[in-house]
Formats: sequence, C-alpha cells, structure tokens
Amino acid sequence: MLTGMQIAVIGGDARELEIITSLTELDAKLFLAGFEQLNRAFPGAVKEKIEDIPFHEMDAVILPASGTNEEGVVETIFSDERVVLTKDMLQAAPEHCTIYSGISNQYLNEITKKTNRKLVKLFERDDVAIYNSIPTAEGAIMIAIQNTDFTIHGSNVVVLGFGRVGMSVSRAFHRLGANTKVGARKSEHLARISEMGMTPFFLKDLKKVVRNADIVINTIPHLIITAAVIANMPSHTIIIDLASKPGGTDFRYAEKRGIKATLALGLPGMVAPKTAGQILANVLAKLLKEDVYQRKGNSSS
Ligand code: NAP
Repeated sequence: MLTGMQIAVIGGDARELEIITSLTELDAKLFLAGFEQLNRAFPGAVKEKIEDIPFHEMDAVILPASGTNEEGVVETIFSDERVVLTKDMLQAAPEHCTIYSGISNQYLNEITKKTNRKLVKLFERDDVAIYNSIPTAEGAIMIAIQNTDFTIHGSNVVVLGFGRVGMSVSRAFHRLGANTKVGARKSEHLARISEMGMTPFFLKDLKKVVRNADIVINTIPHLIITAAVIANMPSHTIIIDLASKPGGTDFRYAEKRGIKATLALGLPGMVAPKTAGQILANVLAKLLKEDVYQRKGNSSS
C-alpha cells in the first residue's frame, strides 16, 4: 500500500487515468494538475492548479509520457490551461521527492539536476519497454493492414532491429504467417532469429534483402533505410518506421520514389491507451512501494 504517500500527477492523457485509479486504490493521496476538464472524480485525489500544489509535501511527481517541452510545459488533454513545471516547484519538494516521466529532455534534465532531485525515465526501463512493445506490435499490424491490399499472411516482411520492439514485432508478423526476415548486426541476434523460425540477415545485406519486400518495418533509431536501400524496393513496398524521431528512413527519397512510408510514433497510447496506462501504473506502483520501504528502512536504522 501507499498509505500516507502524497503524489502530484501533472498532465497527461487517458494513460494517466489508469495511473490515478491504481495509485488511489493503493491509498496514496493525489494532487492532480491539468485535469480540470475531466468530468470524473477519484476518491483520494484532488484537482488543483499546478501553482497551488503543496510541493513541500510531495513524495513524488508524475509527469506524462512526453515529460515537459523545453519551456517546462506539460502536455495535458484534460485542460486548456498552460501547465508549467518549474525548478522552484521541485526545489520546494522534500529531498526524497522523485520525479517520474516517460522520457526526458534538456529542460527536465536541468531542473532535476540543479535541484538534486531523482529523475526516473520510465520508457528507458526494460520492463516498460518490453510490455510497451506488445501494443506497439499490434499498432504496426494495424498500420500494415490499413496500407495494403494483401494479407500479412504469405507476404514478405522485413523487420530491422532485434531489440525490445524488433523482437515483438517480428514475432507477431511471423505468427501471422508472414515470411519474416529480420536484420541485425550481432551474430547472437541472428542465431536467436533463426531459433525463432524466422530468416536472419546482417544489416549490411539490407539492399539485397529488400528486393522482394512487401512490408519493411524499422525499429532502429538511426538512418538505415537510405535512398540506396529504397531504390532497391519494389514500387508497392510500404515502410512502417517505428523508431523515435526522426526515424530511420530517408522519407524525402521515399516520397520521391512513390514508396509509402509512415513514421508511426506513440502507438501504445494510440492503439491501447488503457493497457499502456496499466503498464505504467503497475511499474509506478512497484517503484513507489520500493521507495516507501526504503525510506521506512532508512528512518528505522
Ligand atoms: P532497443 O531495445 O534499444 O533496440 C534497438 C535496436 O536497434 C537494437 O536491435 C540495436 O542493435 C539496433 N541499433 C541501434 N543502433 C543501431 C545502429 N546504429 N545500427 C544498427 N542497429 C542499431 O530499443 P527498442 O525498445 O526496441 O526501441 C526501438 C525504437 O522504437 C526506439 O527508437 C524507441 O523509442 C521506439 N519505440 C517506438 C514506439 C512506437 O510507438 N513507434 C514504441 C516503443 C518504442 P544492437 O542490439 O546491436 O545495439
């Protein structure tokens, strides 16, 4: 339980509703900023303007997936007001107050560093990334279906990268009956791809491999689908780029060649906001409980 814990939840989307539900059920007291248009009450949670949150009492601050922008503005779909997290707010918080965010940027890094507050980037955690890879793979399937007039079953699918997303995406397409080739740069990854019943290849051979590709899915956050690679694709190939901005595709050249290429970001929150929220809620609940136990341990020793 999180009895006695006081937490500020600042901004967000449908995913935060799962987090709020879960943390109030665990008996934490929540202060919600950026939710005034939300027509729903949560027992144990109060809606406040961010300026009115008693930061000096907060044990944790929870930001949405996107964190803040470079001016400290927190995105929220439940408010028209400008919600800004400032350095002074964190400075006012107790020393043990931890800041949880999906990702970070220079602004958030700087205000947490200057105030010496711990920042946890949830999307960098393996558990969150692996759970999130499930709705991401489902989102990739959705985009493939929406953009093709043939079945995934029996089609030639090339997946680039064999990390947390690449593994789930390639397995999902393989199980739907696609002829799935997976490109990686480590020989142990090629061995695992082969063990999973798919066709492995080294990324250096990509130009050759795409010659008969129907769908190419990228998970590598570096330019990998270059103009030279795109030039080798059949004209009907579609590219689904899942890698974080700016993706790994030469989109300018793809457009010039008439190859359909989509940079599909934020799929978990888009295709399964409830699941995506529960993934974050479960991990947050675990981390906050650990935090409580650790502080209790420290205070009794
Ligand atoms: P990951 O576990 O770190 O995997 C990244 C993969 O890219 C690994 O196979 C890695 O190979 C490979 N790689 C990295 N740099 C490379 C390079 N220069 N050349 C060749 N291969 C390279 O990351 P992930 O969790 O799978 O996430 C992959 C991307 O998807 C990230 O950009 C992430 O932000 C994004 N993402 C998007 C969505 C969405 O909704 N679109 C959802 C979740 C994540 P090695 O193992 O050899 O290093």
